[in-house]
Amino acid sequence: MRRLRNVKIVATLGPASDDYDTIRALFEAGADVFRLNMSHGTQDDIAARHRIIRQIEADLERPIAILADLQGPKLRVGTFTEGTVELHEGQSFRLDLDETPGDATRVQLPHVEIFAALEPGATLLVNDGKIRLKVEACGPDFADCLVTVGGTISNRKGVNVPDVVLPLAALSEKDRADLEFACELGVDWLALSFVQRAEDVEEARVLTKGRAALMSKIEKPAAVRSFKEILDASDGIMVARGDLGVELPVQNVPPIQKRLVRQARADAKPVIVATQMLESMIESPMPTRAEVSDVATAIYEGADAVMLSAESAAGAYPVEAVRTMNAVAMEVESDPTYREILESSRKVKRTSIADGIVSAARDIAETTDIRAICCFTQSGTTAQITARERPPVPIIALTPLITTARRLCLSWGTHCVLTDEQERFKGAVISAVRAALKYNFATSKDQVLVVAGVPFNVPGTTNILRVAPCEERLIYRSEPE
Ligand code: PGA
Ligand code: MN
Repeated sequence: MRRLRNVKIVATLGPASDDYDTIRALFEAGADVFRLNMSHGTQDDIAARHRIIRQIEADLERPIAILADLQGPKLRVGTFTEGTVELHEGQSFRLDLDETPGDATRVQLPHVEIFAALEPGATLLVNDGKIRLKVEACGPDFADCLVTVGGTISNRKGVNVPDVVLPLAALSEKDRADLEFACELGVDWLALSFVQRAEDVEEARVLTKGRAALMSKIEKPAAVRSFKEILDASDGIMVARGDLGVELPVQNVPPIQKRLVRQARADAKPVIVATQMLESMIESPMPTRAEVSDVATAIYEGADAVMLSAESAAGAYPVEAVRTMNAVAMEVESDPTYREILESSRKVKRTSIADGIVSAARDIAETTDIRAICCFTQSGTTAQITARERPPVPIIALTPLITTARRLCLSWGTHCVLTDEQERFKGAVISAVRAALKYNFATSKDQVLVVAGVPFNVPGTTNILRVAPCEERLIYRSEPE
């Protein structure tokens, strides 16, 4: 089983997709990575989905990445006596620490840190930004606000505070418990919500102890401002357009998306474009033209992955949504303009021998009839810097480590294959060629490139670029020990 596209597809699991048959159908339709959202569902639900994915991985003998998404410091109001109230433009409304159910004049905001950080003039957004409140006066336990855009507010609606860097711990008590739980389950990636600064990522790094790679969700203006430092501290990035479009004017999201995708690629770290990609498919079997164009845009920009949220987790057409993304990707990637854009947006950053070797591999693949670039990788870095080149042929990432194979499922253009530990280069070439033949990347008449580091199993030694014939007889004849 191989994909006929470079971009990867992330599908969020939920009530619409929590049984073996549906998850397997999602994988077969094209989902490469499954996202388990810790904001919804219990730890038991998460464990059950995790178990099913690992079963499918074993049944189909293909590595699959699991991304656990931590809720993060999501702010919510308390409850209302009537469950819901209507706020009108021009009225005043108080937020406080009082647990008494709220009414049309006040409600609890159970986060003492926020009152400490608020200042008159700050904006508070409630219910996905539908309601806007402007702080007029505030103290350590209250904020008196003017309603500048009214609407319906109900129990536990989310609150965004875009203008203020909040003195909140990046990981709540719940997040810490979920992080430990997810690491123990053995997820491959952990996504951190509402990251504000690089230290937030470093804090999670201490707790994960290498058990999972860390993805920072960029959904706060502060994270956009500190993006470079956050990128340095992270293993991957999610352009979390949902909350980003609440915290910033929506028209700011597309240029930010373009910039984050380019910078993450330049750093050889996978980047996901997320949220509302095929939103109408929650209810309809057909996407809108605008949605198809949005998915296509992310692919043209060179994103590593595109993501489905409610479309696959709670919608009526989860498998169709994955199929749609897959079809859009195959069409975009066969357009010559796609290659032109990828090539013109390549940032040349050659600081090591490995960078030079993978760039040479891409160059050879561009100018000759080579079918794949096979790279041996322990940590995944060699495959990631090969992916950064966005070469015109598939990348076969060969690794003896299942954790590396799974993490790489998120990286552009990589097909991950588990191999034995390599000792000799000749054996490695044979493994690479067998993988290329087995997954139909090449026939015995073709040639592939092999990128490796000798001696094997010493990180950071990438030092060989070899053109290999795919016929074993020729390898035995030509290859020195
Ligand atoms: P969420 O994150 O789905 O967890 O809110 C993604 C986003 O905000 O876009
Ligand atoms: Mn979000």
